[in-house]
Amino acid sequence: MSGTLAVRSPLPAVLDDVPLRVDRDEVLRFQGYKKGVDVPDAAVLGLFEEALALGESLIEPRVVYRAAAVTRQDPDRIEAGGTVLHIPDISHWWGHVDAVGAGICTVGEALERHVRRLWDERELPLAVMLDSVGSAAAESLAEYANDLLCQAAVASDVKVTNRISPGYAGWDTAEQARLFELCPGDPIGVTLNASCVMTPGKSISFLVGVGAAARVDHYFTQCRRCWMRDCAYRRAPAVVTVRRERSAGRPVIR
Ligand code: SF4
Repeated sequence: MSGTLAVRSPLPAVLDDVPLRVDRDEVLRFQGYKKGVDVPDAAVLGLFEEALALGESLIEPRVVYRAAAVTRQDPDRIEAGGTVLHIPDISHWWGHVDAVGAGICTVGEALERHVRRLWDERELPLAVMLDSVGSAAAESLAEYANDLLCQAAVASDVKVTNRISPGYAGWDTAEQARLFELCPGDPIGVTLNASCVMTPGKSISFLVGVGAAARVDHYFTQCRRCWMRDCAYRRAPAVVTVRRERSAGRPVIR
């Protein structure tokens, strides 16, 4: 149990000391608001603040991560740790990688239980907003893990790609099972059913590539959410961070 991740960790490593800040824009995105286009009114903002405070008191962020050396890489396929992953155009997106890292993130079950209770009590607007807070928290946690891995990588002179997940960019959702072969969810209490659905529901799995020649930041810019101060490799200014400053209890970009 720790607050750091080793990029090439051969055994499942658990991160449970996470001062997570939920990205507010993500919450509104899950509510259907487009940033810079849709402006929520005062009533929505009041509900949003209530749900955000409630959600931040309920989440229990945890990450498990494990890396495996790549034994074969083709344009649409990667073999690592005895598992074969079929990911369209992966060599184009990532370039050559010598390892992959599989991660599973969850914000736990307490928030979902509270959403169900609000539904039962017919507190529907708050239930829906809190559900969006949970979804945004899981996304923010995956971002946190990706940033943390990049920070560890730059210290070792390697690169970590942006994350991808089964079900996105043409990667078949069924391969969620193979990702779980690489990195089991049990250490953080995440299970996968036969339909490849994770429990708790507010969980995200991801895969990153690792290597000196890995391509980074061409489908989004990881640095924009990263809190690392004075990083010699920073490619874009930090505009928001998913890390909460512990001492002040408020988010600070360092
Ligand atoms: S600032 Fe950018 S390059 Fe540096 S650790 Fe953060 S994400 Fe990686």
